[in-house]
Amino acid sequence: MSEKWKFVIDPGHGGKDPGALSPAGHRESDNNLAIAKLIRDMEPGFGGKIEFYLTRTGNDTVSPATRAAYANQIQADYFISVHQNSDSLRQGKGIEVFALAPGGEGEKLGGVLLNRLIRQTGLINRGLKFANYTVLKETKMPAVLCEIGFIGTLEEAQVISKPEFHRQAALSICEGIAEYLKIPFSPPEEKKEPSLSVEEINNLKSRVAELEKRLKEIREFVLLKTYK
Ligand SMILES: [Zn+2]
Repeated sequence: MSEKWKFVIDPGHGGKDPGALSPAGHRESDNNLAIAKLIRDMEPGFGGKIEFYLTRTGNDTVSPATRAAYANQIQADYFISVHQNSDSLRQGKGIEVFALAPGGEGEKLGGVLLNRLIRQTGLINRGLKFANYTVLKETKMPAVLCEIGFIGTLEEAQVISKPEFHRQAALSICEGIAEYLKIPFSPPEEKKEPSLSVEEINNLKSRVAELEKRLKEIREFVLLKTYK
């Protein structure tokens, strides 16, 4: 029997709602989307046992109720919402994960994800918490909401807005999913930078030819000097 788990990954905010903003202008909605897409791209690492579905793939406005309804409609097995945090004093730091209520699978999954995120990123552990957010309350499957660092705090915003951090966060969530489901996961190769264009290769070739010609001239000159 080939079992496949459906995970909805929910990049918080987007479109008209940028979410929290950093003092340097980073938008929470962009970071959430970057992390969610990296999670989706790691799907092959689960050897066909997991399917990821995103509640948005662009800078779109989607209400929390619509996100929950989407997960219910596709009969997802689990729901993971990705957010970054902010507080009014702009001093908060660290990661916290929310589930709806104690005692369920959401709490278990949330605990595993939190531990992985802390271990991988080295940010402060603010603990596993409970809240009746719409995406936790209206989803019919176990659901968690991860607040992955404080974008409202300048120092932390600069760390958690970087692509390397997004990859670490995505990796920890995938490793956490694998640990929770007790299935293997090996991260797929990181996507390489785009290779050189034909024009760039031709430019390099002619530059190499020039240098070879110059080198030959120098060799001949040296030989003449030595055996004159
Ligand atoms: Zn948020």
